[in-house]
Amino acid sequence: MQIAIVGAGIIGLTAAHSLLDRGHEVTLVDPGDQAARPTDGNAGWIAHTDIMPLASPKVWRNLPNWLMDPLGPLTIRPAYLPVLMPWLMRFVLASSPLRIKASMAAIRAINAEALPSWNALLSSLDLNTHLREKGILSVWRQHEAFLRGKDVLDRQRDLGIGVEVLDRRELASLEPALHNVEAGVLYPDACHISDPANLASDLRRLALERGAQHVPARVLAVEPTEEVIRIRMDGDDKALIADKVVIAAGIWSRPLAKMLGDPIPLDTERGYNATYPKGSFGLDRPIMFEGEGFVTTPLDTGDRVGGAVEFAGLEAKPNHARTSAMIARLKRFLPDFDAGQDARRWMGFRPSIPDSLPVIGPSRRDDRVVYAFGHGHHGLTQAAVTSRLVADLIDGMTSEVDLKPYSAQRF
Ligand SMILES: Cc1cc2nc3c(=O)[nH]c(=O)nc-3n(C[C@H](O)[C@H](O)[C@H](O)COP(=O)(O)OP(=O)(O)OC[C@H]3O[C@@H](n4cnc5c(N)ncnc54)[C@H](O)[C@@H]3O)c2cc1C
Repeated sequence: MQIAIVGAGIIGLTAAHSLLDRGHEVTLVDPGDQAARPTDGNAGWIAHTDIMPLASPKVWRNLPNWLMDPLGPLTIRPAYLPVLMPWLMRFVLASSPLRIKASMAAIRAINAEALPSWNALLSSLDLNTHLREKGILSVWRQHEAFLRGKDVLDRQRDLGIGVEVLDRRELASLEPALHNVEAGVLYPDACHISDPANLASDLRRLALERGAQHVPARVLAVEPTEEVIRIRMDGDDKALIADKVVIAAGIWSRPLAKMLGDPIPLDTERGYNATYPKGSFGLDRPIMFEGEGFVTTPLDTGDRVGGAVEFAGLEAKPNHARTSAMIARLKRFLPDFDAGQDARRWMGFRPSIPDSLPVIGPSRRDDRVVYAFGHGHHGLTQAAVTSRLVADLIDGMTSEVDLKPYSAQRF
């Protein structure tokens, strides 16, 4: 079949490879002008061990403190509050114990397949050199805070996720540069990648080498007719015809889905980062600074500190005072780090759904249009497994993962 993929971010690119594997003809449509697309600037974690939705007790516990601090880990710009209200209401509803349990089960179902799917995809393309198997470390400033979140560790263990609790001495021997932490947990099976932008660039190059086409245009509408799907693009009356379409345009998928009868509660959690010269942090593996709202990653291209959640929509300018605040907080843990060096600063748009589950499934209007967006904090982690589920949907096959929790019609 001729398949058009709207969006060539990490979700669209991995989908392209899975569809090429199945023998389809693939056209990627993407204007290629989105500097804020999270595909390129994310933290590079394959965090399949993460099972908690954002609407979790951890977030609610920290929320009052965070909201008091305008540069803290989570902010809502006041002018954006009225627009965000429906999303927030759904976020509150997603926070009930029953809904959290359901979200956790659905996150786990897809995350359990995340790393095997990445391994299979990277091996088939000879790109395994992008994978770094150093584990991921979570650290807490205070032991009491660690104890408060301990039930999550029990749940992870119950699910067969490797969890190693470390004391202060073990932490110091694992990451000597790290100070002011009282507790830590190592997830030995979690991974990171060399650099997210480089991985995306290799995936794109190889998709084109395998025969995929790229049309550099913005899709304005996806219009199913009886015989084919018509894809209307910007430019001089440009249109493309396909048998089936995948919409994988991250946060920008919302208007396209709405035109197809699916008003999805998709909003952006804007995230920030700064990338310092390689080796600046003196850390050997990715670290989650629990309760602080940021993580660090030793990428091949530099040491990245990133995170924060800012609700401010797509139009507001980045507020890099937020990045500076994050760097200042990091400095408390890394006293030897020279924070005054030049660093690349970036802001990007996570495509987020209130229940922290992506949308993977057919559109309401026509099952020849398949959605794959809304991966929030986990888009890199879940990209390869999503691509297999998308290929199953396109081929009309039943997937190994039950797709009901990710349906576009669940809202
Ligand atoms: C600071 C930060 C750190 C993160 N860290 C991690 C991490 O460590 N691990 C992890 O798993 N996830 C992480 N994420 C989340 C992850 O990056 C995203 O979930 C993921 O990149 C989403 O990919 P995507 O392909 O859906 O969307 P995008 O990256 O937004 O790509 C969408 C593509 O669609 C194109 N497009 C838009 N509109 C149109 C249109 N109308 N027509 C055609 N094309 C269009 C855009 O140009 C773009 O190329 C992080 C995110 C942020 C912001």
